[in-house]
Amino acid sequence: MMKLSKITKVYGNGSLKVPVLHGIDLSIEDGEFVAIMGPSGSGKSTLMNIIGFLDYPTGGDYELNNEKISAFREKQLAALRNRHIGFVFQQFFLLPRLNAIKNVETPLVYAGVSKKERRERAQQMLEKVGLGDRVKHLPNQLSGGQKQRVAIARALVNNPSVIMADEPTGALDSKTSKQIMELFVQLNQEGKTVILVTHEEEVAAYANRVITLRDGLVIDDRRMTS
Ligand code: ADP
Ligand code: ADP
Repeated sequence: MMKLSKITKVYGNGSLKVPVLHGIDLSIEDGEFVAIMGPSGSGKSTLMNIIGFLDYPTGGDYELNNEKISAFREKQLAALRNRHIGFVFQQFFLLPRLNAIKNVETPLVYAGVSKKERRERAQQMLEKVGLGDRVKHLPNQLSGGQKQRVAIARALVNNPSVIMADEPTGALDSKTSKQIMELFVQLNQEGKTVILVTHEEEVAAYANRVITLRDGLVIDDRRMTS
C-alpha cells in the first residue's frame, strides 16, 4: 500500500520557486487500477514521479507498506523503484538500436541476471503482450501500439507489483489505445496495481478509481462500481 500525507512539491530555488503540489493526501491499495486526471499543469506528472520514487517531495510523508520512505537517499529510492515499479511513458523510450527482445532485457542487465535467463524472461514477457512473433524487430519496424507493448513488456520484466503509466496512449490512435488499455486491464486482473495519468475520459474509464487534480490539490476521488 502507498500512503501519501500532506505531500507538497516546490520546483526551483532562490527567487524562482514554483509551488506545484499543495498538500496531497492519498492512499493506494495493492491491486487498485487508478487513473489520475486533471488539466495540463495541475501536477499529475509531478505526483506520478513522487509516487514512483523518481523525484522527492518538498514536504509531507510517504509510506510504502507501512514503511516511511520520505527520508530515503537516492540509492535506496532507486532500489525501491527497481524492485516495485515498472514505468511506461507516452513516448515509449525504447532504445532505437536494440531489437524488441534486447529492449525488454535491459532492466535485467542492470539487475545482474544471466544472459540465458534474461532471454527467457524477455521472450515470455513479449509473448504475454502479444509480440512473440516480433522479438527481433527494431523499434522503427514496429507500429506505435507494438512499440508500447514492448515498453510494457520491459516494465513487467522485473516482476514489479505496480505499473505506472504517464499518458500511455497519448501517442496512439483510438483503436490502438483501446487495445493497450485492455492489456492494462488484464495486468490488473492478474494482480498488478496500475496507476496511470491521462487527460482522456475514455482512457480513465478503464480504471476502478479516478482521482482528479486541480492546481496541485485532489479535488475529486471516486471509485467505480462495475
Ligand atoms: P533539479 O535538477 O535541481 O531538481 P528541476 O528538476 O527542479 O531541477 O528543474 C530542472 C530545470 O528545468 C530547472 O532549471 C527548472 O527551472 C526548469 N524548468 C522550468 N520550468 C519547467 C517546466 N515547466 N517543466 C520542466 N522543467 C522546467
Ligand atoms: P501535468 O502533468 O498535470 O501537466 P506537471 O506536474 O507536469 O503537470 O506540472 C505542473 C506544474 O509544474 C506546471 O506548471 C509545470 O510547468 C511545472 N513544472 C514541472 N516540472 C517542473 C520543473 N522541473 N521545474 C519547474 N517547474 C516545473
